[in-house]
Amino acid sequence: MTTSALQPNLDPQALATALGARHVIDGVLTPSRGGQGLPVFNPATLALIANAAAGGAADVDAAVGAAKRAAKGWASVKARDRGKAVSACGALLAQHSEELALLTALETGKAIRTESRVEAGVLADVFVYFGGLASELTGETIPFAPDVLTFTLREPVGVVGAIIPWNAPLLLMALKVAPALVAGNTIVVKASEEAPFGVLRVAQLMQQLLPAGVFNLIVGDGPGCGAALSAHPDIAKLTFTGSVGAGRSVYLAAAEKLVPVTLELGGKSPMIVMADADLAKAAAGAVGGMRFTRQGQSCTAASRMFVHRSIHDAFVEAVCAAVDAMVMGDPMDEATDIGTIISQRQFDRVQSYIALGQGLCAENPGAKAHACSALPTDPAFAKGLFVRPVIFTGLGNDTRLAKEEIFGPVTMVIPFDTYEEALAMANDSEYGLGATIWTRDLGVAMDAVHRLEAGFVQVNQNTVVQPMLSYGGVKTSGLGKEASLASMLAHYTHKKTVLINMAR
Ligand code: NAD
Repeated sequence: MTTSALQPNLDPQALATALGARHVIDGVLTPSRGGQGLPVFNPATLALIANAAAGGAADVDAAVGAAKRAAKGWASVKARDRGKAVSACGALLAQHSEELALLTALETGKAIRTESRVEAGVLADVFVYFGGLASELTGETIPFAPDVLTFTLREPVGVVGAIIPWNAPLLLMALKVAPALVAGNTIVVKASEEAPFGVLRVAQLMQQLLPAGVFNLIVGDGPGCGAALSAHPDIAKLTFTGSVGAGRSVYLAAAEKLVPVTLELGGKSPMIVMADADLAKAAAGAVGGMRFTRQGQSCTAASRMFVHRSIHDAFVEAVCAAVDAMVMGDPMDEATDIGTIISQRQFDRVQSYIALGQGLCAENPGAKAHACSALPTDPAFAKGLFVRPVIFTGLGNDTRLAKEEIFGPVTMVIPFDTYEEALAMANDSEYGLGATIWTRDLGVAMDAVHRLEAGFVQVNQNTVVQPMLSYGGVKTSGLGKEASLASMLAHYTHKKTVLINMAR
């Protein structure tokens, strides 16, 4: 690897071309054994960016082999030195944050100012945060018997297999790699075939600061590459972020091998707005919570909004006006608020839900599809995967629109008359990832905090996942948590109990 290849490169197209159809295995950029078959398109223009690796079983085997060879050495590095290396990775990635932001905007279509630059900043922060937690990998002493010294040790699990999606690839990878490495594990990450280059660049850069084989990254599709990683006999722990269907496959593979698994899956997150809420703040929270800037492609998107009937119309008007004022266009343009959908497949899926909703509106008098913002007019983006955000009103919580995860810029506003009615609708979902309630009544807020069936509950705000806050879902939204010290200890270490009989 030449030194110049490791300098910040603000030409994302050149960077993607240079990375090409390769993996990072055993410390080096490695051509794919599985071939070069996965074209990655710029979703704003549908122009080919570059072909990515189509990793298969041979690539997985090479990466897991490298991680296995590196495991013993990395586990024996002093915990604080591992932490320093991971923190240094954060500092290095911060130096490269603009190039990573540009690369992310190019391959995902997420707007540079509102999304991609923010994600690149959080990426670095996650490494710095976890690096500082190395000294917390402590055990405890247990008063078992006076003459038996009894204590626990935190030990690494071994080689971790991590599978990530495309919607926030830098962040979601960091939430797995940083704690796994600090805890003394080595790791093989399988990147999404739809957004491989940003994370490939991160892996390439981090090799400067880590021993070879500690962090490997392969690119490939789910059924071929992801399934091979899940099934690999030398993987001691699986961690997956993505859809419920693929998560089930990973869980089955983990069950077959009897290895622990963390699953961060989908959501259909409710937002309850009580009559006494600050309407302006709640409307702004709805826009942020629904992640319109990311075309709604967020697992915690507030895709079901339950609003007290007395303020329903004013709320809808305020949210529509705010989204109307947002600029949709070139993800690379600083003036853009909303970029594109990631892929043609996802675009078609979102459009099918919008068509479904429009059909329901035609059948239900009073129901309406409020399409907001405006498609870009620049002919350069005529083929781009832009979708006007749609806010449906007048449709029930029993429709497919309310039950299924759309993962696009589509939300519903549903009126309620009583708090109990709102709570019942909020909990009437197979998912349980995020939930918010907006009210000035502390008693109502605390009641909702206890009764909302979700892993991440907020009152009077709709913020995103943050380092130090345990994050994860209940019900079909997943198993286990990420992003905190507690999650690092629970998911990337095992506790060994030791008894030393000191009787003389
Ligand atoms: P996806 O399930 O299609 O793909 C996710 C990853 O799994 C990709 O790398 C894919 O190649 C791989 N994969 C697919 N099938 C596989 C299989 N059989 N075995 C192993 N790996 C397989 O999901 P997506 O479309 O990339 O992402 C969107 C989904 O991710 C949404 O459901 C969203 O809610 C969820 N998500 C959840 C969180 C969270 O923290 N809970 C965060 C982001 C996204």
